[in-house]
Amino acid sequence: MQFQNSLAFAKTLDKKDPLKKFRNLFSIPKVNGKTSIYFTGNSLGLQPKSTKKFVTEELDDWATLGVEGHLHSRRPWLYYHKFTKKGLAALTGAKPSEVVAMNHLTVNLHLMLVTFYRPTSTRFKILTETGPFSSDQYAFDSQVKLHGFKPEDAIIELKPREGEFTLRTEDILAAIDQHKDQLALIIIGGVQYYTGQFFNIKKITEAGHHAGARVGFDLAHAVGNVPLNLHRDNVDFAVWCSYKYLNAGPGAVAGAFVHERHANNPELMRLAGWWGHHEKERFQMKKGFQPMPGVDGWQLSNFPVLPGAALLASLEVFQQAGMKNLVAKSAQLTGYLEFLLKQIDSTGKKFVILTPSDKRERGCQLSIYMKQNGKKVFNALTKAGVIADWREPNVIRVAPVPLYNTFEDVFRFTEIFRTALR
Ligand SMILES: *Cc1c(COP(=O)(O)O)cnc(C)c1O
Repeated sequence: MQFQNSLAFAKTLDKKDPLKKFRNLFSIPKVNGKTSIYFTGNSLGLQPKSTKKFVTEELDDWATLGVEGHLHSRRPWLYYHKFTKKGLAALTGAKPSEVVAMNHLTVNLHLMLVTFYRPTSTRFKILTETGPFSSDQYAFDSQVKLHGFKPEDAIIELKPREGEFTLRTEDILAAIDQHKDQLALIIIGGVQYYTGQFFNIKKITEAGHHAGARVGFDLAHAVGNVPLNLHRDNVDFAVWCSYKYLNAGPGAVAGAFVHERHANNPELMRLAGWWGHHEKERFQMKKGFQPMPGVDGWQLSNFPVLPGAALLASLEVFQQAGMKNLVAKSAQLTGYLEFLLKQIDSTGKKFVILTPSDKRERGCQLSIYMKQNGKKVFNALTKAGVIADWREPNVIRVAPVPLYNTFEDVFRFTEIFRTALR
């Protein structure tokens, strides 16, 4: 599509947007009494208006039923995680038996590493992208130490080429091949939180398996943002949180995927808890852990129903919108943002966009690397009603989210940004 730099054009795109009614299903925060330009769905997604109803229903059932709610509430608490499966499977390209909502992201990452990072004296290395999210780094370091290795020997962080900001797929594949005799695990952020790069999950998984390694992805910035086909792509495991693009609220219940190739293998090492024990015998409190088939066999504790209700509300919105439609709109919305930003500074004197320009290699986020006055510009944006995100030392991350952001938001943002740069 031929984009134009005008408010009238942005408004025309909004009018034609098949998903335009979805914005009204969300509460949009205000700044100084005016509706904000909310570009931080990559950090905390907005609240669907239906969330209150879902959570209130559980509070009401608890109030009127007490413990009986486990079996007799409208969504029996005993089976609550099952109600999230269909929606999570659709977002991740998985079978319902391969996905489960549980715990928090870093907890799930540890649980998956216990199963899928089984180093030997010769095959003990973990390959990841450069500068993974801090919590992931801490998880990798501590797991490596748990097995008696040193992080500096065992963890390989892939760096982009000199003068480049993101990794080339060919370089990732070459590195996998180079280290193939020592690789135990490849774990990469599906969408990198800092650069916004969406990695080629299929090719990385293929190469990893060819090298004899396990392959997992941290989908914190990918789920609800980019198209995923975890089952078809043969990914071994994945984890994600639900408060970013999944709009399930602060501290929401997170998720995990285990491919069905592994999920029915009771021999796999895992940390066990009663909720992973076979459902039929769970309340017999017997000795001897027998895992549920599927990823459910990795559950530890009974399900957090109140956060779960918020997740259900959000999944319903995603089901109505459809990931395919969201991805199509997202490419347009972020494409328009990129087009307008390039018009502001076509030579890259004041800023450059770190995120790949190929829409197959990114989701909705663009990371703007400021060459001067970054923090000042960011503060001016905030003052003018833009809610964006600052990453030290000099990156502004902006994420127009197709569920609730508009082309007009994008246009107005770039006008404010242009003024702030002066
Ligand atoms: C947001 C995010 C986290 C946060 O971890 P929690 O356990 O949810 O606090 C971890 N890793 C990545 C890649 C993230 O983007």
